[in-house]
Amino acid sequence: MLQRDLTGLPKAHLHLHFEEGIRQGTLDEFARELGRPTPRMSGFTTFIEFDHLAQGAAEVMRTPAHLQRMVHEIAEDAAAQGCVWIEPAVWLPLHRTHIGPDEETLEILVDAARQATEATGVGIGFLIASNRNDPPNKAIEQARIAARWAGRGVVAFGLHNDESRFPPEPFAGAFDVAREAGLILTPHGGELAGPDSVAACIDVLHADRIQHGIRASEDEALMERLRETGTCLDVCPTSNIVLKSVASFDVHPLPVLLAAGVPVSMNADNPVMFDCTILSEYELARDVLGVSDAQLATIATDSVRASGAPADLKQNALGKIAEWIKP
Ligand SMILES: [Zn+2]
Repeated sequence: MLQRDLTGLPKAHLHLHFEEGIRQGTLDEFARELGRPTPRMSGFTTFIEFDHLAQGAAEVMRTPAHLQRMVHEIAEDAAAQGCVWIEPAVWLPLHRTHIGPDEETLEILVDAARQATEATGVGIGFLIASNRNDPPNKAIEQARIAARWAGRGVVAFGLHNDESRFPPEPFAGAFDVAREAGLILTPHGGELAGPDSVAACIDVLHADRIQHGIRASEDEALMERLRETGTCLDVCPTSNIVLKSVASFDVHPLPVLLAAGVPVSMNADNPVMFDCTILSEYELARDVLGVSDAQLATIATDSVRASGAPADLKQNALGKIAEWIKP
């Protein structure tokens, strides 16, 4: 049977945490510069420990040159994996200690992204994250920053961290600010909490996309709703297994979501921690989860459609996806 080359399938990477998009070798090098061991990125047993390690990586990201290099390498890696557009998620307060005020960090990132796009051809729009473990007024602060940069390198606004302890409802005000600025609303939901969390992301936060959202698969009516509204779930299968949101690949809900016609994108989430890439996730979907090439083309199409990419980039990518799937 014809095995199409998945690198040649144009795709958008919509669920990618910036700091964990770093190459392992670059993380090692940054640590060496400081005479420190590389921050531990694996071996976590709980979500809280995972989050602690993820934030620890930023300890070795100390200079604007570090961030510029990371942006450039993330774009190079994306190009090598067939991405035409990426939306790295950055939680700016993580860089206050070593880089500086939030908008200075953002300016460095946006400038670096412009250069990286010129060098690699991969379009980049940042997703500004808020942290649900912090009080909602901190999320409003980040939403205001995202709003000021909307259309100038920022395309989306997110809500990160532990949804099992911090539900979406208190963050409605922050999402109102982002919505008024025309940003794509992309909270994490339906990963550590059930379908109710996905419904709340839609009803209360007016989410355009949901990062993960996989537990919507437990509720037929909710899946129907996602299909009707075209709300894309930014799914990350390896992440779900590593963080134990799903017991095994045998029972991963991706095939159920696809069968129900829910728009889905495929993503790596935290590549350096989960030892995966967007390309390896597409391969895994085909080889392990039994997803067909036609479904993979649909996933790539939905990723491009649901992204914040400019219209001409979208149109070009959709044309190439149609070519890729041609018999
Ligand atoms: Zn995530």
